Amino acid sequence: MQISRRIGAHLSVAGGLVQAAQNAMTMGANCLQVFSGSPRVWARKPIDSFPYDTFITFCKDQDFGPIFTHALYLINLASDNPDLLTKSIGVLKYDLEFDSRIHGGGVIVHLGSHQGRGFAVSKQRVVKALKEILVGTPKSSTFLIENSAGQSGKLCSDLKEIRELLDAVDSPRLGWCFDTCHAFCAGYDLKTVEKDIATLNLWDSLKVIHLNDSRDLFKSGRDRHENVGEGSIGKDRMKQFLTNPKFAHLPLILEVPGFNGDGPDAKNIAIVKDLIG
Ligand SMILES: [Zn+2]
Ligand SMILES: [Zn+2]
Repeated sequence: MQISRRIGAHLSVAGGLVQAAQNAMTMGANCLQVFSGSPRVWARKPIDSFPYDTFITFCKDQDFGPIFTHALYLINLASDNPDLLTKSIGVLKYDLEFDSRIHGGGVIVHLGSHQGRGFAVSKQRVVKALKEILVGTPKSSTFLIENSAGQSGKLCSDLKEIRELLDAVDSPRLGWCFDTCHAFCAGYDLKTVEKDIATLNLWDSLKVIHLNDSRDLFKSGRDRHENVGEGSIGKDRMKQFLTNPKFAHLPLILEVPGFNGDGPDAKNIAIVKDLIG
């Protein structure tokens, strides 16, 4: 039985929030991740233009959730370009406001790249931006840092950097998201990563899993997702990860290409449920 396990997917909100939740339920999911607008442009709809009450009632009635918001891809909180930094902070404030209004589980963010300057040099800028975002947004919103895949310059491929940022910002509203594809490509063995998480004292702040297989090899430093069990992580390692009781309380969000190339689908959800057993 997997009654309590939360298994969801990143889906489009082109048809509206309720429609996205209904689509997720149709494919066998019971939680969801969305964008608050296009992930590739800065512009956002007026924050009041979403039917929050209808959506919250729907989720409550259907026991559906949590709902995570994925930040857009253009963000870089370590940028030395003041315009890009200002835009990044602005759009993240919007997403945290959105997260608060949908009663969501948090905004999941790739912090960006230090562009060769190194983490140590970029850290203060990132910490300052994180504090500014948290001060300027509702207390009921959560900011979740996502681990990166080890691409050159990307922040937080090393989980130690997440620990350092959590310490420096020191807010219960700051947590993190563990992406299996990113961790695998950054060189974390999914069999032993629970020990790394424990060593860094990162269990309490971990709020959600991005469950993705990888098209690339272990420690490749690349970020290309594959359907669950169909990539380099593979079914055996995925099963081991999914049946590890340490991770069982965490919602799973799939960001996979899908068997028809249209993104997460019923088949991927069924594979996950099958692996969990
Ligand atoms: Zn992810
Ligand atoms: Zn990715």
